[in-house]
Amino acid sequence: TNFTGLGLIEPLTRAVAAEGYDTPTPIQAQSIPDLLTGRDLLGVAQTGTGKTAAFVLPILQRLHEANALPARKLPRVLILAPTRELALQIHESIVVYARYLSIRSVVVFGGVPMGKQVKGLNDGAQILVATPGRLMDLMNQDKVRLNRVETFVLDEADRMLDMGFVNDVRKISAEVPDKRQTVLFSATMPENVRKLASGLMDNPVRVEV
Ligand code: AMP
Repeated sequence: TNFTGLGLIEPLTRAVAAEGYDTPTPIQAQSIPDLLTGRDLLGVAQTGTGKTAAFVLPILQRLHEANALPARKLPRVLILAPTRELALQIHESIVVYARYLSIRSVVVFGGVPMGKQVKGLNDGAQILVATPGRLMDLMNQDKVRLNRVETFVLDEADRMLDMGFVNDVRKISAEVPDKRQTVLFSATMPENVRKLASGLMDNPVRVEV
């Protein structure tokens, strides 16, 4: 099937066509229809499988469809990634796939001053991409509020735990409303990731590529 067959709207199929994608990858074909319905999803997939578009495209569509509601300043989607490089890469993919929609993304990560990132948050974006450490710093300084988050994504969860972010991830999860869509991707599913997932998700669809 093609991207339209998965249920994606024209501004998104046009954006992926402009990137030169003509066929959804297996993880995209298996994830996009369920994510569009708002279900939780637990995915085992490595980098290079197209997992970023698998979660970003449905997120953009759901935000676009909810935009009948008045625009709000606070983030409605939170995407956590273990490293600055991955967070930036996800943010850049969002910008590309959202080119025909009016949806904004802001990215925050450590190792740089906070000022610009705080300004980006204050300017307002529907999507926040963050590394756990910097997000905790911003939360502790009351620079970000997560009480409007409707979709919570943890990308490369195994790596996030390997890097020692388990307590930050738990504290961040506690700030996100319980009533939400949760998506977790991991290259491997060891016991610690399984445990984290079962505490965060409600009857998730499981996909593996
Ligand atoms: P990811 O696994 O998300 O890091 O994506 C790996 C690479 O595959 C990225 O460079 C994407 O631009 C590319 N990609 C994602 N989906 C598709 C697709 N359906 N067809 C061709 N390339 C894709």
